[in-house]
Amino acid sequence: MSATVIDGKAFAAKVRGQVAEHVARLKEEHGITPGLAVVLVGEDPASQVYVRSKGKMTVEVGMKSVEHKLDADTSEADLLSLINELNEDATIHGILVQLPLPDHLNEDLVINSIDPAKDVDGFHISNVGLLGTGQKSMVPCTPLGCLMMLRDHHGSLSGLDAVVIGRSNIVGKPMAQLLLGDSCTVTIAHSRTKDLADVVRRADVVVAAVGRPEMAPGDWIKPGATVIDVGINRIDAPERGEGKTRLVGDCHYESCAEVAGAITPVPGGVGPMTIACLLANTLTACSRANGLAEPEGLTA
Ligand code: NDP
Repeated sequence: MSATVIDGKAFAAKVRGQVAEHVARLKEEHGITPGLAVVLVGEDPASQVYVRSKGKMTVEVGMKSVEHKLDADTSEADLLSLINELNEDATIHGILVQLPLPDHLNEDLVINSIDPAKDVDGFHISNVGLLGTGQKSMVPCTPLGCLMMLRDHHGSLSGLDAVVIGRSNIVGKPMAQLLLGDSCTVTIAHSRTKDLADVVRRADVVVAAVGRPEMAPGDWIKPGATVIDVGINRIDAPERGEGKTRLVGDCHYESCAEVAGAITPVPGGVGPMTIACLLANTLTACSRANGLAEPEGLTA
């Protein structure tokens, strides 16, 4: 293996440490405590785990954490009314509605009812538009985490050829916008892309956000390229015992690591950065709301 392993777990711990320092300073110098409200509708087990760890880490960096757990059959009107209350609450600087929502709730309507300045997931249509036009916005957490790791590894990304595999609204598209913002030459690939292997082989930076286990093998990777693997896929692992599973990315780690210059592992790569960036976004939202300087290095 020749690639440098980009340790997302360590990087995320560093980001959380920086956030905690800023939070301590905000409290000491301005008497302000950033607050994050997470709204969970229903009992999806994976969502419950995410919400718990978000709450725990929010408290660990010194922020106020508020959790609203609503029944699966909560009406849209009740959910919108809660969001409205949180929009009006001056002690709450970030609002996150855990997705997916139960089928009877209109996700777009709910997300677009969040005050864009408190939309720490960066999914509100205003933030999407601001990011797309290169203006100050709230940036989706996973792509922001990828950008931070890339900037840390490369310094400047200017002029690099970047290929983003996947065009979802939460990862692929905002990732491409961020790379464009850092002056990469960006290609967005998707399920209809012809000769995907050839497209990926041109890239100095590959960001894979597909959701197909180990889809990209090492011979798709240009020697020395940086591979950011966003995919999280659970596959059977009979070698670990009957019924056992393990997590893999969208890239075949071993073969990609042979040729890449740097690579993020799965798990322990992009995943931990997502919550760290949620905290960074909450801090950014709080700083902006109070007319204070934004935390350096923690925004796009
Ligand atoms: P989506 O399912 O919304 O999007 C997947 C994208 O991959 C689509 O644009 C699709 O193309 C494209 N795609 C599917 N098959 C192929 C193929 N054969 N070749 C090329 N492109 C293909 O997924 P998400 O963006 O939400 O998530 C992607 C992965 O990232 C998942 O594994 C998810 O678990 C993980 N993830 C990880 C996070 C983290 O914190 N680390 C956070 C969010 C997601 P098309 O549009 O044409 O259908």
